[in-house]
Amino acid sequence: MLLLNLDRNADEPLFSQIITQLKKMIQKGVLVSGEELPSSRALAAHLGVNRTTIYRAYEELWAQGYIDSHTGARSVVRNRFSPPEEVEGQSHATVDWSIQRNEGCNRGLSRLKSQEIVNDAASKYNFLPLAPDPDFMPVQAFRKSLNFVLNREGNTLLGYGDPHGNLSLREFIASQMRQHCMTISVDEILLTNGSQGSLDLLLRLFIEPGDTIVVEAPTYSAAIPLFEAYGARLVSIGVEPDGMNLDRLEAVLKTDKPKLVYSMPNFQNPTGITTCQAHRERLLSLCADHKVALVEDGFEEDMKYFGKAVLPVKSMDRQGIVFYLGTFSKILFPGLRVGWIAASIAAIDDLTALKKISSISSNSLNEAALAHFCGQGHYERHVKRAHRIYRRRMQAALKALREYLPAEYGAVREPRGGYTIWIELKGCNLDEGGIIEALSEAGVSVTPGRISFVETQESASFRLSISMLEAVEITEGIRIIGNTLRDLAIKHRPPAALNAAPNSGKPDD
Ligand code: PMP
Repeated sequence: MLLLNLDRNADEPLFSQIITQLKKMIQKGVLVSGEELPSSRALAAHLGVNRTTIYRAYEELWAQGYIDSHTGARSVVRNRFSPPEEVEGQSHATVDWSIQRNEGCNRGLSRLKSQEIVNDAASKYNFLPLAPDPDFMPVQAFRKSLNFVLNREGNTLLGYGDPHGNLSLREFIASQMRQHCMTISVDEILLTNGSQGSLDLLLRLFIEPGDTIVVEAPTYSAAIPLFEAYGARLVSIGVEPDGMNLDRLEAVLKTDKPKLVYSMPNFQNPTGITTCQAHRERLLSLCADHKVALVEDGFEEDMKYFGKAVLPVKSMDRQGIVFYLGTFSKILFPGLRVGWIAASIAAIDDLTALKKISSISSNSLNEAALAHFCGQGHYERHVKRAHRIYRRRMQAALKALREYLPAEYGAVREPRGGYTIWIELKGCNLDEGGIIEALSEAGVSVTPGRISFVETQESASFRLSISMLEAVEITEGIRIIGNTLRDLAIKHRPPAALNAAPNSGKPDD
């Protein structure tokens, strides 16, 4: 019979002492797999305990996988998988899965790594984040909408939703798009997990490893690793003051037969350039002639606060060439992860099916709250407020750049809205890494230009985003940038060039 020592004065209940001791005997091999345990009646009699105590202990050992039990038969020790014992403070060698990653992922991940920049949150003048200022987020109004929809239809909203996304929100988006002259029905809109999620769906629909995607140079930095993770071959076309070079695009469309052309006609990230109507018309007709899908990233469509709006390319599309991407991230709440794709019904059907395959449905609660929020007029009110705030900040930035950035070091393009300003240090032999480091030491964080290029860039450049700083901070930050560039130039240039005059006229556009 088993040798178990029960301590009747201990705090630990008897059944638990039996479990602990039997487990130890199995772990140490005193009891081996297949060995029969005594019947509950025999063990109870032997230990002088109630039979239900043994039942409980055997039941728990079975639940923990130590023994097998069958009615009418004796319990037997199981052949149990025993993971290596945990030793405190010592980690086990884990399997190295990286060798099994696919080729696209390898490229995407190493690109992402190469794009890592130091986001010094402590930096006094932080021109990095391209996101709305959290201080102006209409949080209370959104909270009320969230409560309202939860009260009204919480049971439905906490279940799986329509994979197309919330109907009222799609109706609101369709009405907004009409204001930008895009006639789109709700069936031509799919709600997604932000524009990044929209891009991901499009890549899944179109891209096989080795397929070509045309991107602007520079382009939205986070699109590069995503495209590469799908194994796409990227062909970059330079962005000129009036947008992507379309003669070059025409040539590439003929020779490289791309599957997608990715473009940001408004406030291009990172250059801030907005293309003109004629550029948009030619871009569309080139893609239509070659039957190539044009991905129009309208990430800041509602952020035009200087001058008249130019019509989106999608507004002229009669053949379903354009896949228009919209998002609530840049004007409202990036954390909600709500964006959309507007395209032909057939394409939206395919994309919806793909979304269903990977994520079943949308985040119904967020979408319903956002639909209610927009339906109450908060979106339009917020856009007006955002325009006032960011116009003021952008004006301060442009004024300071004229005043403090020596003309011969920096070429600045004045954006017509959005958050970003691109500074290209043409004709100056300063190294971009050195500039970024010197600025950071002076308390200013900027986004290095290199991360926005697939290949190497021509000259040092960097991006400023004015979204998070007050006008006075922007002015001071830019004054420091001007001084730092001047100091660096003094260190690195021949004496003749030292007396650079401040930039007096309108910046180079
Ligand atoms: N496109 C561009 C040009 C962007 O700058 C960003 C975000 N920085 C996105 C798309 C992704 O936005 P979302 O939060 O909607 O995924």
